Amino acid sequence: MPYAEVSVNSPAAGRSAYSYELPAGLTVRPGQAVLVPFGPRVLQGIVVEVSETPRFDDTRQLSGIIDPPLCLTPQQLTVGMWISRHYLAPLFPSLALWLPPGFERSAESVFTRSGLDIGEIPLSDLESNFLATLDTRVPTDQKTLEKRFGKVAAQKAIRHLLGHGLIERRYRLQAIKVKPRLEKIAHLRIDTEKAQQAAAGLLKRSPKQSAVLRFLANSRGRLSVTEIRREFGEVNAILSALVNKKLIEISMEESRRNPRLPAAVELPMAHTLTPAQSAAVSVVTAGIDEAKGEAFLLHGVTGSGKTEVYLHAANYALKQGKQVVVLVPEISLTHQIIERFTARFPGRVAVLHSKLSLGERFDQWRGIAEGDYDIVIGPRSALFAPFTNPGLIVIDEEHEWAYKQQDTPPLYHAREVARRLALETGAALLLGSATPDIETYNKAERGEYRLLELPDRLTPHPSAPLPPVTLIDMRDELKSGNLSIFSRKLKAEMESALKNGEQVILFFNRRGGATFIQCRDCGEVLKCRHCRLPLGFHPVENRLVCHHCNAQYRVPTVCPVCKGSRIKFIGLGTQKLEEETKKEFSGARVLRWDSDAARGKDSGYQIFDDFRAGKADILIGTQVVARGLDLPRVGLVGVINADTALNLPDFRAGERTFQLLLQVAGRAGRGEFPGRVVVQSYQPSHYAIAAAVAHDFKTFYQKELEYRKILGYPPFNKLAVLTVQHLNEADGLQLAHDLKKTLELERDSTGVSGIEFIGPAPAFIPRRRGKYRWQVIVKGRNIVEFLSKTNLSSSIGVDIDPLGLD
Ligand code: ADP
Ligand code: ZN
Repeated sequence: MPYAEVSVNSPAAGRSAYSYELPAGLTVRPGQAVLVPFGPRVLQGIVVEVSETPRFDDTRQLSGIIDPPLCLTPQQLTVGMWISRHYLAPLFPSLALWLPPGFERSAESVFTRSGLDIGEIPLSDLESNFLATLDTRVPTDQKTLEKRFGKVAAQKAIRHLLGHGLIERRYRLQAIKVKPRLEKIAHLRIDTEKAQQAAAGLLKRSPKQSAVLRFLANSRGRLSVTEIRREFGEVNAILSALVNKKLIEISMEESRRNPRLPAAVELPMAHTLTPAQSAAVSVVTAGIDEAKGEAFLLHGVTGSGKTEVYLHAANYALKQGKQVVVLVPEISLTHQIIERFTARFPGRVAVLHSKLSLGERFDQWRGIAEGDYDIVIGPRSALFAPFTNPGLIVIDEEHEWAYKQQDTPPLYHAREVARRLALETGAALLLGSATPDIETYNKAERGEYRLLELPDRLTPHPSAPLPPVTLIDMRDELKSGNLSIFSRKLKAEMESALKNGEQVILFFNRRGGATFIQCRDCGEVLKCRHCRLPLGFHPVENRLVCHHCNAQYRVPTVCPVCKGSRIKFIGLGTQKLEEETKKEFSGARVLRWDSDAARGKDSGYQIFDDFRAGKADILIGTQVVARGLDLPRVGLVGVINADTALNLPDFRAGERTFQLLLQVAGRAGRGEFPGRVVVQSYQPSHYAIAAAVAHDFKTFYQKELEYRKILGYPPFNKLAVLTVQHLNEADGLQLAHDLKKTLELERDSTGVSGIEFIGPAPAFIPRRRGKYRWQVIVKGRNIVEFLSKTNLSSSIGVDIDPLGLD
């Protein structure tokens, strides 16, 4: 008798699958979405394996297949199971990444009448009535029956009738909340080539009809009337005329809720590639042909033409009948790449992102599954688009932290999952960045990824150099009596830029704001004596804490290095900066773009569009402005506080700072004005700052690698963070101590070597939702293997390959 091993949608199921007996006559495949009894309820599940013998005795019967049937592909199943294993994450959520939006719902019972004759079976009036309302084919759900006959009576009748085999019970998912919507659609009645000819013919006599016809032909011959109206205004008369000419027809169809896409500003013209681009494209297309899941790292400064390489590689994959996934760190910040894809491949691009409504997401998902689109662009979750034959996976700005899932398990990293998916499906994986992740670059160095380089910047002035960067030591400003946020140099540069009609970006690093203590005279940041990491300042207790080893220090009144008394924490926000800027540059129009200002659904686009359209002179922004925006009128970029992020208690602080500075600097000089950058810092000699100012990735990489090696950080070791939470601070700490001790005993008794446990220490956010959070850091080579063998309680948070140690 066949059995199915099923991953069940219940928090109690954890990382395990459960064995179920298949009812006679039912066959299922691995990957199939099913319903199974679990405790007193019937829950969703996914079959991970079908076998002749159950893994556990004492199995229950599988309830049935979810209707309409849905089955993960073998590749999807394999990748989902890998996610659960590698990230020590519960199994169902790891597999559910592949399910359509809104799929996770509870099941309800539905009933049909069986073929059995009533014969001698004694039935009450209510039961006869009950039976008469049921059809033999169309099922009725239990809720409806309970409404009609009363809850208790209906349940009693169900038991009785089921017992006699007069009715049959099945399970189906509760009605989905997203319903298809109807909409007017215009179709071509002739092929697109003929339509172009017809449009040319109409050009003289009826230019509007010609334009609409061409628009339809360019959109693969099918568009909603709403979309046409958006482009041309009122079009009813024009459409009727085209219908009368038998060129198009109009019908009511299920609509796909189309999310607002940024207007295409670039013509879909393909550039002639530079030799470096050509070389990169041909290596990647060979990878697409070989279909071995090879990975490539495309390293090139901003503006070196990486996106153009993605577009050409994508074009090639599409020509081979394959599909393309493009991951971007955050949709609202990267709409230029979307514009370029939608302009180059009109009608073929689906855009997924978290701000879409459930209905919009469902429609996009279904459109992808039904083959309406062959390119999907989106954040990390777009990796799980239902493509059957992906040929290329692009990850733009691969170093960005947004690719790691935070908070809700599985805490996966899209780059690592994409690597698995590529190996399973044979798709080529193309990672692009101006400032690759240290670990990624190290893999490229060791040959695991193939390194492709674009050495030159392609600005409107050919081979324009990277903008010159001036580094200002803010300690000197203080010494000469300038207490302003702006150094004298930055102020002067801003004044001349504004006079010149150039736009200015002021970058403010929000991360690490008021979390550390720094001497304003010598720039010294207080660090832990043992760990050399900056100490976190806890204002409530007024003490300094090492987030690594939990050593505690009093807040000193004088600087331990220079004995100066201006030791204070840095606390400046974007709003304060906005005020100061308006005060200093009174005639200038100032826009602020941070996560507060960009909270609305489209306001991210709005601020950006306004600035690009020249509606402001100065844009003040946090991390968001550092990303790939093409702003041709920006001549000057000022970095207000280059080093605040260096002082975070995190081994990646240097890398983050370097990446940000280089990206911000890349915003200047992309258009008509030669760019220049002014960087203000209290630690100008730190290697991350010095290398960023010199636009020197290689030097930074070497220094950073040395540092990581000395301290045993990735890529030399793997890390995991285990987090314990408790309402009581001391009890939480005790739990964390116990956890560490248990793990140490386990390590010593199994003879595993090279694994070390650090802490416990308060988490970077030491208290969340009323609970104290303590963490133990696990460092070593085979930590996943080790941890998966230990019996970690499900209440412990596990983060494998954490990004920040926070
Ligand atoms: P990146 O993605 O590395 O920032 P882009 O692909 O956006 O670089 O290219 C930078 C600019 O150069 C864009 O405006 C793009 O249109 C242009 N560009 C890219 N490739 C070429 C090329 N081969 N010839 C001319 N211009 C190009
Ligand atoms: Zn310490």
